Amino acid sequence: MIKRVAVFPGSFDPFTRGHQDIVDRACQVFDEVIIGVGQNASKKRYFELEFMIEKIESTYINNSQVKVTAYQGLTAKFAKENNAQYILRGLRNTTDFEYENAIAQGNKKVNPELETVFLITSPKYAYISSSITRELHRYGEDVSDFIPYPL
Ligand code: ADP
Repeated sequence: MIKRVAVFPGSFDPFTRGHQDIVDRACQVFDEVIIGVGQNASKKRYFELEFMIEKIESTYINNSQVKVTAYQGLTAKFAKENNAQYILRGLRNTTDFEYENAIAQGNKKVNPELETVFLITSPKYAYISSSITRELHRYGEDVSDFIPYPL
């Protein structure tokens, strides 16, 4: 049987409990989930890339189905390089839908064999976003309810 591999691309600045919920559930669907932390030269990160990769790796230290890597450039290319047949994304609301719909169509143009698979957020994590987590952290608030690892 061929291995079902999904890439989960994102900024993950930071990786949240919402992202973790998507990855954990995706592990029931795919044999392997590769979390791709996007590097974008024009977008300054709040949490350093290497730091975030270490934190995500520590979260999945006991789960051999999950891999973590940095990537640059097109997601469709990143998927191909990793022999992934699927792109995994999470959907919280209609705003996510509008945005994700356009991206999924774009990726399909670049590589028609790639399928984007969406998982709907679990309600208890729907309020979590990386931007709110950053904002709270910036002002010294405790963000341990938002992220699955200690900072
Ligand atoms: P990007 O910059 O590519 O949007 P993010 O790191 O913000 O990257 O998000 C990566 C993916 O995770 C997206 O599909 C986004 O919709 C999804 N996501 C973000 N927050 C949550 C959450 N709380 N629950 C489920 N999915 C989420």
